[in-house]
Amino acid sequence: MEVRIAHLYPSLMNIYADRGNIITLAMRCAWRGIEVLVDEFGIGETPSWDDYDFYYLGGGQDREQQLVCRDLAAKREGLAEAVERGAVLLSICGGYQLLGDYYRTGAGETMEGIGLFRAHTVAGRRRCIGNIVVEADIGGSRLVLAGFENHSGKTFLDPGQQALGRVLTGFGNNAEDGLEGIVYRNAIGTYMHGPLLPKNPGLTDWLLARSLEHRQGQAIGKASPLPALDDSLEEAAHAVALRISGK
Ligand code: GLN
Repeated sequence: MEVRIAHLYPSLMNIYADRGNIITLAMRCAWRGIEVLVDEFGIGETPSWDDYDFYYLGGGQDREQQLVCRDLAAKREGLAEAVERGAVLLSICGGYQLLGDYYRTGAGETMEGIGLFRAHTVAGRRRCIGNIVVEADIGGSRLVLAGFENHSGKTFLDPGQQALGRVLTGFGNNAEDGLEGIVYRNAIGTYMHGPLLPKNPGLTDWLLARSLEHRQGQAIGKASPLPALDDSLEEAAHAVALRISGK
């Protein structure tokens, strides 16, 4: 078994230890004997879109987002088609914003997004910063996710779009409607970093299971789930994150 990961713009979009998410994915594969390939793609470098099961786009500030935004337009079609074919995508914070329709900065500039998510982002006056806890429904299972957020952008989903979850504590998409993130097919956008995946093994394994399905072309269901791992350290980290968030 193998999972192939494409890490987009790792040197520009990596301000919140986003590499930790990639390491977590790779380790949870390695511990199960699943081979994992991680390739990095920067400005001007285009993945062969059929070759990857998982696309990752981390967070970045406005300056980096501006650079990435122009290049991302050239990757739009390939990435959108990969998501339609069932590839997995995880995008965090500044990356999430650029996958929506647009991001209007505090300086009044508009960065065009690639419209993969039906959502838009407008800079707010205050920064949304701190620990965040979200109740999510992932593939029919309730998961309580713990993360950290730091953004001024306020993201609003178009009507009918599915949020990743409901904010239990923190700000989430816009500090107004109680929603956090977005889910479209196997693509997720979220403001949670920290990094997110080390302390949320249930989410990580959902992403891995979908990635393996994409590779193998067959469902990984309850009958043949991913082999269980000893998650005591991950669960302890999750419990501490909830405790310091007051949950
Ligand atoms: N421009 C983004 C914001 O503050 C940056 C988010 C991020 O990735 N930290 O809204």
